[in-house]
Amino acid sequence: MDGSGSFDLLEEVFSRVRESSIFRDRDKLSPDYVPSRLPFREEQIARLGAILAQALKGYKPNNAFIYGLTGTGKTAVVRYVLERLREKAQEIQVPVTVAYVNCRQRDTEYRVLSDVLDSLGVRVPFTGLSIAELYRRLVRALERGRARLIVVLDEIDYVLRKHGDDLLYRLLRINGELPEPSVSIIGITNDLNFVDSLDPRVKSSLGEEEIVFPPYNARQLQAILEERASLAFKNGVLDEGVIGLCAAIAAREHGDARKALDLLRVAGEIAEREGSSRVTVEHVNKARNQLERDRVFEVVSTLPLHAKLVLLAVVKLIDAKGKATTGEIYSVYTELAGRVGVEAVTQRRATDILSELDMLGILSARVVSRGRYGKTKTVTLSSSRGSIIEALKTDDIIGRLIEED
Ligand code: ADP
Ligand code: MG
Repeated sequence: MDGSGSFDLLEEVFSRVRESSIFRDRDKLSPDYVPSRLPFREEQIARLGAILAQALKGYKPNNAFIYGLTGTGKTAVVRYVLERLREKAQEIQVPVTVAYVNCRQRDTEYRVLSDVLDSLGVRVPFTGLSIAELYRRLVRALERGRARLIVVLDEIDYVLRKHGDDLLYRLLRINGELPEPSVSIIGITNDLNFVDSLDPRVKSSLGEEEIVFPPYNARQLQAILEERASLAFKNGVLDEGVIGLCAAIAAREHGDARKALDLLRVAGEIAEREGSSRVTVEHVNKARNQLERDRVFEVVSTLPLHAKLVLLAVVKLIDAKGKATTGEIYSVYTELAGRVGVEAVTQRRATDILSELDMLGILSARVVSRGRYGKTKTVTLSSSRGSIIEALKTDDIIGRLIEED
């Protein structure tokens, strides 16, 4: 190829990137975008606003616990209210500091505290200080600044599950060391069971206020999508039924607005990649498959070794006989474990692993009665065999097992 030929080729590729035939502004569908309006959440916005407004009057706001399933707008609502609070505090010149921490990304007590300190203008090294020292610095900064501090711990279950509730316990106790209480904690979780697992004392202090985010229904999701689509897509590129289908799929999956927005974004991306000038219902179906593949891949490829071996045993049995029972799975699993030279876990642990895989939506285990032989569990796959195998193959050890057969 001569120089000018490749130049023209690139020119064409680059200009295609610049001029999307589908999107006006794709970022409006990205998970980080905080919309300026959050319909169907007026009640939650007002509740949280009323709680935090205490800080504007110079009082310590109550702690609050916010929960609801993923994609019900918790993060968006909290960020929206905090931003408005910050603006108001500045306007009327009341000192309020807000520390927003995503505990999925910042999943140790040290990281959470260093983010909180950072919001107060105190820099600490990445590692090296003791936790006790971090708390001392926090107390000192609060004494000095006299500001109300609102600590938002989003996806709080991530840090607590890993490290227990020391973090919360100690943060809650800080107020006792200050001349007047000034730290409020807003905890957010997607995991409803998590609430019950907390230490009762921690639970009651954190739960001074509780705000629940119910799932969206199909009609609400449709309205949310329509509003966002008008910002993100060019006029008239969406076929009739596209938004309705995204909303209906996401409504069935516990009313998850993130899922609905992801479907719409990926459908648009697929349409664009195919060079289509319109987004069709077919593109939504493809998007659904792609998202499902991505999800299975992420879950399966990060499983611990024994869970992968159990899963592979299930796939092999289903390939061979069309179904798998717990007893059979355990014996195939033990054989596989032997072949890779690791000691098998107990049958009881293997059964727990099956339940975990069930909860992750990878397979489905149903108890069936076998008359006088008692009960057993029959296991079927609830995600595509191809995606599971593809993900299992990324593990060197498991990959070799798959190739050997
Ligand atoms: P959660 O934190 O509960 O998992 P998010 O707040 O992250 O959910 O919301 C998921 C996605 O849906 C985000 O992109 C958010 O902007 C959007 N979203 C959620 N609720 C609404 C709403 N009422 N109006 C508009 N967009 C919303
Ligand atoms: Mg969230």
